[in-house]
Amino acid sequence: MRVGIGFDLHRLGAERPLVLGGVEIPGSPGLIGHSDADCVLHAITDALLGAAGTDLDIGALFPDDDPQHKDADSALLLREALRHVPGRIVNVDAMVLAERPKLGPHRAAMRTRIAEVLGLDVGAVGLKFTTMEGLGPIGEGKAIACKAVALIEESA
Ligand code: MG
Repeated sequence: MRVGIGFDLHRLGAERPLVLGGVEIPGSPGLIGHSDADCVLHAITDALLGAAGTDLDIGALFPDDDPQHKDADSALLLREALRHVPGRIVNVDAMVLAERPKLGPHRAAMRTRIAEVLGLDVGAVGLKFTTMEGLGPIGEGKAIACKAVALIEESA
């Protein structure tokens, strides 16, 4: 078994939909970034690359100055990254730090989508949300961040 950790943060304020965990969340500005800026899938991608013991991270795989990845669907980037992750994914767990919008109503859709992208049962995808109690740039609604861990079982 091998564990990996990932973290990502993007600033809020883009004039496009907010996408988290591969799901469009209505009623909020989008995240600013070269791809669709889905910090949940980005953190999970880095957790999996770490668990795999590669010398890669998401920035090395998909440089943010590559026009090919402009506005890219991060679900496709994650699927591509999975080519570097041998063995079986046991589970992933993610913690989203966001002051707003309220994400609870979207938890089921996000878990389902993340599970679908990874080819996992939904029970293998943990997803929690917390605010920063108004503190710091996340608490002020200027950014959304995500921490993630992933566990993989190496092939025999
Ligand atoms: Mg990112």
